[in-house]
Amino acid sequence: MIIAHNLGFPRIGAQRELKKAVETYWKGDLDEAGLRSIGQGLRKQNWLLQQEAGLHFIPVGDFAYYDQMLNMTALLGAAPSRFGFADGAINLAQYFTLARGDKNNFAMEMTKWFDTNYHYLVPEFLHTTEFKLGSEWLFEEVAEAQALGIKAKPVLIGPLTYLYLGKEKQADLNRLHLLPKLIPVYQQILARLQAQGVEWVQIDEPALVLDLPQEWVDALASTYATLSQGSPKILLATYFDSVEEHAETLKALPVAGLHIDLVRAPQQAECFLRNFPKDKILSAGIVDGRNIWRCNLIAALQTLQILHKTLGERLWVAPSCSLLHVPVDLTQEVNLDQTLESRTLKSWLAFATQKLAEIATLARGVTLGKEAIATQLAQTNAALESRVFSPKVHDQAIRHRVAALTPHDAQRQSPFAVRIATQQARFNLPAFPTTTIGSFPQTADIRAARADYKKGRLSTAQYHTKMRTEIRHVVQLQEELGLDVLVHGEAERNDMVEYFGEQLQGFAFTEYGWVQSYGSRCVKPPIIYGDVSRPHPMTVEWAQYAQSLTTKPMKGMLTGPITILQWSFVRNDIPRSETALQIALAIRDEVQDLERAGIAIIQIDEAAMREGLPLKKTDWPFYLDWSVRAFKVCSTGVNNTTQIHTHMCYSEFNDILPAIAAMDADVITIETSRSDMELLDAFHEFQYPNDIGPGVYDIHSPRVPSPEEMLRLMHKALAVIPAQRLWINPDCGLKTRGWPEVKTALQNMVTVARQLRGRAVV
Ligand code: ZN
Repeated sequence: MIIAHNLGFPRIGAQRELKKAVETYWKGDLDEAGLRSIGQGLRKQNWLLQQEAGLHFIPVGDFAYYDQMLNMTALLGAAPSRFGFADGAINLAQYFTLARGDKNNFAMEMTKWFDTNYHYLVPEFLHTTEFKLGSEWLFEEVAEAQALGIKAKPVLIGPLTYLYLGKEKQADLNRLHLLPKLIPVYQQILARLQAQGVEWVQIDEPALVLDLPQEWVDALASTYATLSQGSPKILLATYFDSVEEHAETLKALPVAGLHIDLVRAPQQAECFLRNFPKDKILSAGIVDGRNIWRCNLIAALQTLQILHKTLGERLWVAPSCSLLHVPVDLTQEVNLDQTLESRTLKSWLAFATQKLAEIATLARGVTLGKEAIATQLAQTNAALESRVFSPKVHDQAIRHRVAALTPHDAQRQSPFAVRIATQQARFNLPAFPTTTIGSFPQTADIRAARADYKKGRLSTAQYHTKMRTEIRHVVQLQEELGLDVLVHGEAERNDMVEYFGEQLQGFAFTEYGWVQSYGSRCVKPPIIYGDVSRPHPMTVEWAQYAQSLTTKPMKGMLTGPITILQWSFVRNDIPRSETALQIALAIRDEVQDLERAGIAIIQIDEAAMREGLPLKKTDWPFYLDWSVRAFKVCSTGVNNTTQIHTHMCYSEFNDILPAIAAMDADVITIETSRSDMELLDAFHEFQYPNDIGPGVYDIHSPRVPSPEEMLRLMHKALAVIPAQRLWINPDCGLKTRGWPEVKTALQNMVTVARQLRGRAVV
């Protein structure tokens, strides 16, 4: 039988048990022993589940109380020295301090894991960084698994990826030069694992899918030549994209196996198969670890059979990547069983647990022939067929609308210079107009009202009264503060994507479809399963009510197509670009309805614009092209006098500024305060043409910035952006903040605007 294995399993638990345990521990209501025993229980459960599913090798070391990169940092004894931990083993309390900071230390930086929504803690490197074995957890977990009769395959993040994803904290340091210090510790780890009787170890080097500088690629051969000595057999794993350009190098490495992602990059099978070394196994990542669709077993089997012809028993079957990025278990979704429609949808899906069965099934099918898995193939067939023909999925009217889009539909009536003049005449805003990004503090009261409404404990009328009261309150407050462009506060929204997804056709929501985002935080992405349309206006009533309370302009608030797409599980039967345009048309209709209802300023948030960028630069132009087009389709169907704002809150715009400018929003508000306005340099160099609101208030912290501080930031902004182009606003929405801080901070912000106006810098 050919080998079926897994690269990693979600650790949060089907009911988010780990999240709850960790948070209870942080609160002091659970002791370390209690937390460890919950961790141990989850590991055991996951291992047994995988074993029972029929997998031969089970990943161990994919478990983490916070983050797998942080576990690696602990294992390598590489806690940043600024924390001042004594040399030696890192304990659990210190581990969490690295992740969350304390009163003396800010936490380690967190950033996105490749193009996923998972965030890892960024290793920090100095010239003096030393590595040494710093934790016993991995070895303990291996022993724990072995005691249960589990065939443990420990998982490590490889030395190149570990270094590459870290950051130098000294300007003249090249972190690659730390490699010679790092390798001996990996050797020690591997020797320990070998002593434990481990047969295979999985070393993840996903950095290889990035545009890796040549010197890093060159380091591969010697690194793995050293590591493969005195080590269990090494399976070198890459995922999330193709490593085709390194195929020959990888095949020549002295490792015992390679894993490649054949879901994201099926084309690479061919070049790996060519002269694949006789002494290596090839692990085919054939079941999608990044999405929730049931595997097309028929197609997957065909691919595997081709590989099998050449490789025979040297072929392994696996998910494309760790299953960390999908929810745990579909069988919990009992609500998806209730109507015929949702039952059908459920038959199209597979979460982590179901994917294990798919992997095992495929291994059986390749070994024994398709008759051996006839039932599963028939089930797949039925599911695929019902999906292909489902009227819920396919809406000809929308397809035609998208197909009929012309360049004219993605173009404002006039260029910015003309528009802004008519807008100024209409709004008559002062210099340095002040505004906020949309949300105001979401108090316990507001959250309770939303929950009660959802559960039917509040009637629609009662709920609306509550929300209107809240809107009245925030409008009045903004008037008192003297803000120029107001917002309604977004009290009715739980989440900027879910709120729209729930009202759009083509979206489904799960009950337990949680995926770890970082630490104990999980997100529950909507599932886009069908053509997207907007049955009815989504925000008009609230915006109109808010506008009725004030003579100042009220911003209509929407989420843009790319952000909605990016934060959902997307279809795998049509290109993302197609779904983006469908969402864009739905938002376009909303924009036009808002305009018709008298809303003169409309903000379309594209917080996730940058994170949608593909991993390889060669794929950027295509993505930027369709994503900008989608934004323009949703935003350009208005008159010159209607002002379109957009908002983005992830840094590093430098390399995509032409695309941001091409979006042609009249005003863009961006996060800049944490980088001390440094981000604006790029806007200056590029000569960004339209209005900009650089954030002057870091909303990630409860700290209230003083007027002096904000003034200093604005002066920095003024040095690079013409005064008549500048707005003043916070970095992002205020929903996670408390009222007292928000009031003072906004008061300070308005004071600064007035001071600037008084100095007549314009
Ligand atoms: Zn934001």
